[in-house]
Amino acid sequence: MNNSALRILVVDDEPFTGKLLHHMLTGIGFTDVTVRESGAAALELVGGLIPPELILLDLNMPGMDGIELVRKLVEHDYNGSVVLVSGEDERVLQTAVYLVRAHHITVLGHLNKPVSAVELDEVTARWKAAAAPRAVIEPYRSSELRAAIQNNELVNYYQPKVNVLTGVVSGVETLVRWQHPRDGLVFPDRFIALAEENDMIDELTRVVLNDALHQARKWHEDGLHLKVAVNLSMDSFSSVSFADVISDAVRRAGVAPQDVVLEVTESRLMLDQRAPLEILTRLRLKRFRLSIDDFGTGNSSLTQLRQIPFDELKIDQSFVHGASRDATALAMYNASLTLGRQLGMEVVAEGVEDREDWDLVRRTQCDVAQGYFIARPMPAAALMEWIATWNRRLPELVATG
Ligand code: C2E
Ligand code: CA
Ligand code: CA
Repeated sequence: MNNSALRILVVDDEPFTGKLLHHMLTGIGFTDVTVRESGAAALELVGGLIPPELILLDLNMPGMDGIELVRKLVEHDYNGSVVLVSGEDERVLQTAVYLVRAHHITVLGHLNKPVSAVELDEVTARWKAAAAPRAVIEPYRSSELRAAIQNNELVNYYQPKVNVLTGVVSGVETLVRWQHPRDGLVFPDRFIALAEENDMIDELTRVVLNDALHQARKWHEDGLHLKVAVNLSMDSFSSVSFADVISDAVRRAGVAPQDVVLEVTESRLMLDQRAPLEILTRLRLKRFRLSIDDFGTGNSSLTQLRQIPFDELKIDQSFVHGASRDATALAMYNASLTLGRQLGMEVVAEGVEDREDWDLVRRTQCDVAQGYFIARPMPAAALMEWIATWNRRLPELVATG
């Protein structure tokens, strides 16, 4: 789809800004640009026969402000996208973005006044990606997943975790995929919840864990001493025998519990207080390493840190990727890092996606990093070759000064 096909509405009470945006948009090839100077006038257009597909919306307007206009857009069943424009500081804009998203309206981004042509180009480019026709995704049935587990269609991918200071690969995180005979590689967001809701998660975990342990054993035999992390669903923590299931599997595989990291997501951790606490404490006593995953995204993260003897804290990727350009994310990243340190935990930064993120974790001396900048999750067989490539990249990445 070319630029000209997109119907854009600019809403700004300042006639000058409206004209300027109009000028810039036509300058980058958009021909269908309309400007309105109030929320009410904008709504008329949105309620009309050919509603806009993208609205550049000024937050601060007398009368109906941008946030109120968004609420009205929802009432008008607006299903296009929005870009927020404002002279407010970054945090206010961020909050506004969350607010608009909470209304299930697609926010392509926000622009600070004065708006630059480059930013405008960037944000409108995102429209094309967002508007590309999405395939309708049918949820899988639980019987399909059950069969898949039985037929060994689940495969483990492994994503390296590296020591930030030295660059040495310290471990891998196991991420399960479903090698679907018809649909190809299916990601866990499409079947983990399904497994949890249909009493299959223990079975799934068992398969994932056994494969991961088997693989860890092989790597150890090949002289590659890696810690292997596995994600545990909170649903498994309601049965106290779960600690035994895990330690039996580890013993059978001949892997030391110290080399097994159990990553636990915090958000649902405390649904029922006692069982998870007991299981996690027992696992810790058996020398497994406990990791609190997605740190900072739940509600009671601090309480959990106090109650459960975690060894590792994984700072959620939303506070890592792009944090050097986002003051709020950076504050949370720093606070999490300090907290983890003071509690004597190893701190892992997730979502290290680009060079800037890598420089941040280096500068702040985070312990371990994981993310696309280092490596994407990969099949076990690809790991050796990746390590060789990584080692070639290393001198430049861990150079000081
Ligand atoms: P998670 O535990 O937070 O795993 C990290 C996710 O972030 C993975 O997605 C990984 O591919 C992705 N990721 C890694 N580096 C980057 C990066 O630099 N940028 C971005 N944007 N993403 C990155 P994946 O594999 O799709 O897994 C999604 C979630 O599914 C996992 O989140 C985990 O909660 C769950 N999951 C995966 N495997 C299992 C499993 O065996 N059991 C259970 N219970 N849950 C699992
Ligand atoms: Ca994880
Ligand atoms: Ca995570």
